[in-house]
Amino acid sequence: MGLIVQKFGGSSVKDAERIFNVAGIITETYKQGHSVVVVVSAQGDTTDDLIEKAHEINPNPSKREMDMLLSTGEQISISLLAMAIEKLGYPVISLTGWQAGFITHSNYGSARIRRIESERLKSELDKKNIVIVAGFQGINRYDDITTLGRGGSDTSAVAIASQLQADLCQIYTDVDGVYTADPRIVKGAVKLDEITYDEMLELASLGANVLHNRSVEMAKKYNVNLEVLSSLERKPGTTVKEVVKMEKMLIKGVAKDEDVARIAIIGLPDTPGIAYKIFSTLAQKKINVDIILQSIGRHNTKDISFTVPRADKETAISLLEEKYELFGAEKIESCDNVVKVSIVGAGMQSNPGVAAKMFEALFEANINIQMISTSEIKISVLIDRKDANVAVNAIHDAFYQTIEK
Ligand code: ASP
Ligand code: MG
Repeated sequence: MGLIVQKFGGSSVKDAERIFNVAGIITETYKQGHSVVVVVSAQGDTTDDLIEKAHEINPNPSKREMDMLLSTGEQISISLLAMAIEKLGYPVISLTGWQAGFITHSNYGSARIRRIESERLKSELDKKNIVIVAGFQGINRYDDITTLGRGGSDTSAVAIASQLQADLCQIYTDVDGVYTADPRIVKGAVKLDEITYDEMLELASLGANVLHNRSVEMAKKYNVNLEVLSSLERKPGTTVKEVVKMEKMLIKGVAKDEDVARIAIIGLPDTPGIAYKIFSTLAQKKINVDIILQSIGRHNTKDISFTVPRADKETAISLLEEKYELFGAEKIESCDNVVKVSIVGAGMQSNPGVAAKMFEALFEANINIQMISTSEIKISVLIDRKDANVAVNAIHDAFYQTIEK
């Protein structure tokens, strides 16, 4: 018997039927003798609808008033869910973010959690109540309501799990776990039983889209065991933790990131300080550079190419053009027609040949690699956009054909 935190996303509580489904999961856990704290998001598309409503009134509302508005979405779901659990005959209480003790920094719209004053939570648990907490919200030092940024309820749940030292934090959603690739693209994608925090962070930032990145960072920092699972099917999901058991899977996932553009600066002088000048120019405007490639100097010139998020491409180019002469470049070229495909897996640290296998799969599919970058647990290639799905499938096949599941 322990303490379990369960988080349910918007689609899991979108209507009365789903609310009763969730109430069933919660009360089953409670019946097994566990203490249960539940965090819920706003129902279905409520948050988007509220944003639209706001913009009908004022296209530029203050962030304080936006948070006042958006926090109501979660308040609807906690009360409805508590009513459903009451109806099933169990002791329950709903709490807003501030009632649950979420003290945040003051930046409206993307507030960070400072601390949780957990007396109320603990006393409700002592009274054997199932406690339902509004996700995504807290209160700042001006006693104003704040929200944690889109998708922030995952982070609320992990924060409670860490504060109360819960045995497990379950994130219920509409997919049944984390897959080796997007099942919509790759037919043979398989569900992972386990994945490490670091692998999950890489996959999330590569667009795997199951858990809010900040929640995984927080889970890693405070060593909270996470489980991602479906609220619709009663079966185990994927566990996210520090170390996972050794197994045959070298690679945990193949991910595709479409939000990239490539910029190339051609004909730079082959002298010290050039890379520094270029990248400090971009850093000053907070443009995030990803893959960087510098050619070997020939005839006293060299080329530097790199990728940026697509939305930053034009700004990056105009910044660089302003400083053309300072850099001594011949020309700047750019290309939108690219995607980044990556493989992630802690196993590659101790196994040679992983990169070769990925490149072989691309060669056999006749796909040209424009850029390559690697980290300890990740290898990324930049390729032509039209080849993206073929590449993801070819790479996935190369790594997963050989494992028995
Ligand atoms: N309701 C909020 C959103 O849609 C928070 C969440 O779902 O986690 O972003
Ligand atoms: Mg959501």
